[in-house]
Amino acid sequence: LGPAAGLAGRFPLTPNPEPASESRHREVMAKLAFGVDFTDHMARATWSEERGWHGHRTEAYGPLTLDPAAAVLHYGQEVFEGLKAYRHADGSVWTFRPGFNASRLRASARRLALPELPDEDFVASLASLVAADERWVPSDAGSSLYLRPFMYASESFLGVRPAKEVEYLLIASPVGPYFPDGFQPVSIWVTDRYSRAALGGLGAAKTGGNYAASLLPQQEAAAKGFAQVCFLDAATSTALEELGGMNVFVVDADGSLRTPAITGTILEGGTRSAILDLLRSSGRTVSEGTILLEDLRAQIASGQVTEVFACGTAAVITPIGRLAGEGWDAVVGDGQPGPVTTGLYQELTDVQYGRRPDTRDWMYQL
Ligand code: PMP
Repeated sequence: LGPAAGLAGRFPLTPNPEPASESRHREVMAKLAFGVDFTDHMARATWSEERGWHGHRTEAYGPLTLDPAAAVLHYGQEVFEGLKAYRHADGSVWTFRPGFNASRLRASARRLALPELPDEDFVASLASLVAADERWVPSDAGSSLYLRPFMYASESFLGVRPAKEVEYLLIASPVGPYFPDGFQPVSIWVTDRYSRAALGGLGAAKTGGNYAASLLPQQEAAAKGFAQVCFLDAATSTALEELGGMNVFVVDADGSLRTPAITGTILEGGTRSAILDLLRSSGRTVSEGTILLEDLRAQIASGQVTEVFACGTAAVITPIGRLAGEGWDAVVGDGQPGPVTTGLYQELTDVQYGRRPDTRDWMYQL
């Protein structure tokens, strides 16, 4: 990927004639929520079978025009991504491994029979939008500009086949720290009643249907007082897979770590992949494989497993203090964030916010 400055021009800007007022901007930035407020612009491009990708532009944020027969509304042909822009102490704005998200968006698109957006266009859209909406990148500790690229079948046609017209958009939302009151452990409900994805299905793609499938289990778990749901493999309901929007790691008493392998049913997280890199280069033992729930419960009870955490772009790393399911309930360690979880959170966020040297070339200046 070339420097962002050379790419931003691929999505030429038509400035929003009515951007948010200074006072509205101040109000939003003073009280950051997650995904509630959006910036002044959006980047977009259109794909058609005849013309390929065209119409790249950055324009005023606003409602879309969609024919009621647009294929996405009926058959869910859409994919998306999620990453963040971070403000460093010198005022510069950076994103974390955009190449990972660009390539994951292409992989998701392939699975949904959508056209692949070239990586340069993906990164160019980020650069262009952030250049136009720089004032929306917060500088408070732990805050960022959440970037949401997505692509959907816009063709009006009710036949079930891949759409011949597709829209790519990028929107952005200033967000506050995930843990405004400090690093908090969460309780997770492990469901053996619902599955997220089966082998050969859509689990490895970042597509709306996977999240739609997670809503009812999530709602039921919330009613029992749990923050999130952990899904098991659909075939046997015995092995840990992932949460609705985060990957999961287990820390053993000997200091080694484990995470479920990428089998085709879970989403490969950028945070997961960065953590694996960090651990391997620091000489820690880390394995990707099958984690049976039955074994995990015994290992938590015996103290062989000392920490469990979830990871993803939004929260970076979330300590899991308690795991429970039908007929069982387990506190992990003493229920508080452990040293490995805390250390990884610190190390990753330090790199993202420019507080420690980026020795792996993970950061990309927008
Ligand atoms: N699994 C799922 C199902 C997710 O939605 C996410 C969030 N994108 C993740 C894992 C973590 O991915 P990442 O670290 O790239 O945010």
